[in-house]
Amino acid sequence: MFKALLITKTDDVGYRCALTELDEAQLPAAGDVTVRVDWSTINYKDGLAITGQSPVVRSFPMVPGIDFAGTVTDSAHPRWKAGDRVILNGFGVGETHWGGLAQRARVKGDWLVPLPEGLTAREAMAIGTAGYTAMLCLMALQKHWAEAGVKPGSGEVLVTGANGGVGSVAVALLAAQGHTVVASTGRLAESDYLKSLGAAEVIDRATLGAPGKPLQKERWIGVVDSVGSHTLANSCASTRYGGAVAACGLAQGMDLPASVAPFILRGVTLYGIDSVMAPLTRREAAWSALAQSLDRGKLAAMTTEIGLAAALDAGPQILAGQVRGRLVVNVNA
Ligand code: NDP
Repeated sequence: MFKALLITKTDDVGYRCALTELDEAQLPAAGDVTVRVDWSTINYKDGLAITGQSPVVRSFPMVPGIDFAGTVTDSAHPRWKAGDRVILNGFGVGETHWGGLAQRARVKGDWLVPLPEGLTAREAMAIGTAGYTAMLCLMALQKHWAEAGVKPGSGEVLVTGANGGVGSVAVALLAAQGHTVVASTGRLAESDYLKSLGAAEVIDRATLGAPGKPLQKERWIGVVDSVGSHTLANSCASTRYGGAVAACGLAQGMDLPASVAPFILRGVTLYGIDSVMAPLTRREAAWSALAQSLDRGKLAAMTTEIGLAAALDAGPQILAGQVRGRLVVNVNA
């Protein structure tokens, strides 16, 4: 038997997520690798799954948790054997396939990446899907800047939703590369925290969150946006000629009330960042870069550890924008 969060949906009780005990025999048959999960996390999407606020869970019953780090106990997959340390992000895990907020998981070996050298399983999940997505954003911007000949320090980079998981890791990664990072947040009281991660300036997200002009004063050489909606539209409108915006989130909204002006008049590029179905080579590159470049002191400063039962309360908290940085879940606590 093992402990897990389980989401059920029935006509009489409705949508419900609870801590329960399951038998290993109940793990999904559609998987060829069994993993003893050591650590998982709470991402924004896990909040949606735990609360049922948005229909991210596609089949029931479902174990939520879009990511985990753990140790292979049993494998019929040629790449993996018992004892291998692995990470999983996305591929519908925690949405259509039982996920990581549990002490055991059975998944497809094709979805797993090796825990990179120099990273503990706890650190990997302190980074989690949010941090790995921040690195995917950074990789897109770096490629763009390399082609455009943009050097770190030659302009400001904006990070929106800066106190969140994606935002906190993006601030730390960009600052470590020598970029001048401007952090946009609704929680100005956390300015010292954002500056400790490397932000040069902290701005009120209200300056970006309302409808704005199609073209605004050119400011950013790049943007990491986890917020969407007007914030993304205004970010594009204030990006400098030839600059780039990496869009990965929708914390403000799924809409994009923008005009084409920044794209056709300033040559701004908008990159869409998806972590869920990203190819393995890009995943491994992102995790390897995270292992090498993310300051462990800053990672510790942005991480709060909770147990499996507390993950139930963390779901609504992350959707309410009340979580600072990252929540790492000790599934054995
Ligand atoms: P968090 O909740 O940790 O961070 C989101 C942050 O957005 C909040 O902390 C808050 O930052 C800001 N925010 C919240 N509500 C609003 C609002 N109404 N208007 C403006 N800003 C707001 O979530 P994550 O960092 O885990 O994820 C961020 C987003 O990225 C989510 O939408 C998530 O779904 C998406 N995502 C997408 C992935 C992909 O593959 N494309 C992968 C991972 C995440 P502050 O308090 O600083 O203002």
